[in-house]
Amino acid sequence: FFRRLRQNLSKTRQALGAEIQATLFETLDDETWERLEEALIMADVGATTTAKVVMQLEQEATAGQVEGGDALSARLQELLAAIARGGDEPFEDRIDVTHTPTVIMAVGVNGTGKTTTIGKLAWHLQQELGLSVLLGAADTFRAAAVEQLAGWAERAGCEIVRGPEGADPGSVAFEAVKQGRERGVDVVIVDTAGRLHTQDDLMAELTKVRRVISKQLDGAPHETLLTVDSTTGQNGLRQAKLFSEAVPVDGIVLTKLDGTAKGGIALAIASELGIPVKLIGVGEALEDLRPFDADDFARALLS
Ligand code: GDP
Repeated sequence: FFRRLRQNLSKTRQALGAEIQATLFETLDDETWERLEEALIMADVGATTTAKVVMQLEQEATAGQVEGGDALSARLQELLAAIARGGDEPFEDRIDVTHTPTVIMAVGVNGTGKTTTIGKLAWHLQQELGLSVLLGAADTFRAAAVEQLAGWAERAGCEIVRGPEGADPGSVAFEAVKQGRERGVDVVIVDTAGRLHTQDDLMAELTKVRRVISKQLDGAPHETLLTVDSTTGQNGLRQAKLFSEAVPVDGIVLTKLDGTAKGGIALAIASELGIPVKLIGVGEALEDLRPFDADDFARALLS
């Protein structure tokens, strides 16, 4: 797994690695810290988070707490992992089978990989964890979205609840959770719109879908996951901020980490939004979704 993760993150690692090697820390002067800062910014770790990390490392080095190039590299890796960790429980612990069903609401702007993520997640839950999954096609704004989701349901081998064309998203979500309860399904994943006429319309719709779900099942949705496209770097961070102000977001799915040099955005999101990255998308196939592990992630970036 780790070897694959390293491969997936190769572009980000190259961007960082060219600068951050033990040799960078051989002589410690202003230039060392400037180069480290630049490398982290280039990998989209974000200005605030970068400043925090660099300041901490510089302080520890100056105070003689960490000495030598290798020790400083290792300490940097530790600091990055601590930021990425976010401190929440692992995603899979949120799937509590006593909920019957656990309801996951998927939110995110069109194009970020929301539909693909739902398909991969359904496959992962069914094939790898042995749970039963039902999808709710509540992104009724785009006709193609329902078809696309139905395609993923077929590939993942699960059923889907869909309304008539132009159906009210709330009623589709309601029906999906209702059927999930009646059929004793383990997990219902509700897709939602990723774009409407205005930002306000979109946020109002998400709030409504959420309310309808909680009316059908107390405590639901149990997990609201926001997809963020890692290739959009700091824009993704801004989007995540907007969404999290409108609906409570429990976790981020960071998509398209394969083939981007902006993988540092995982750190910026965890540190600046305080929302843990729970899953990462590393390709377009069913099996290309995996739990986020902060230590592995930091290690894959730097070694
Ligand atoms: P949605 O509009 O947010 O539902 O986005 P889609 O799920 O349709 O994905 C948009 C595009 O991104 C598609 O071409 C997907 O194949 C691609 N995509 C999604 N996730 C990943 C990922 O983790 N890695 C790569 N390389 N492509 C992805």
